[in-house]
Amino acid sequence: MPIEISEKTVKRDFIEKISKLSGQDVYKCYQCGTCGGACPMSDHMDAVPRKIMRMAQFGMEEAVTGSKTFWTCASCHSCSVNCPRGIDLARVMEAIRLLTLRKNLNMVEVSGLPAETVEELPQIALVSCFRKLTS
Ligand code: SF4
Ligand code: SF4
Repeated sequence: MPIEISEKTVKRDFIEKISKLSGQDVYKCYQCGTCGGACPMSDHMDAVPRKIMRMAQFGMEEAVTGSKTFWTCASCHSCSVNCPRGIDLARVMEAIRLLTLRKNLNMVEVSGLPAETVEELPQIALVSCFRKLTS
């Protein structure tokens, strides 16, 4: 399906917020795809990191924040150390996650976790999950 890209659709404030929070310039990305090749989680992402960068360049806020990729990101920095443009993509993912959490949109609903899951998982895993995936 064709995607309309125009002055009306490009959310510049979204691009600026990513840039401010991450300290990275998304326009430096030239779409080589090295990040996705280096990413241990890319098979589990609904949009590979390169695609997230492309959508971010066009200020496609709904498409970026509607993706699950930034939740799936393990913050391992493999993409960042391999990017030929020196972009710290892990920080971009983190910025998108923070912007989403600030809207009170959580990836995990704590009250919805089954009791047996809470029982089984190590406490540190739960704390880490709540810190990363809930606002
Ligand atoms: S490795 Fe860097 S330049 Fe290449 S697609 Fe990923 S973010 Fe863009
Ligand atoms: S930081 Fe995230 S996007 Fe980058 S390689 Fe690791 S899991 Fe993939």
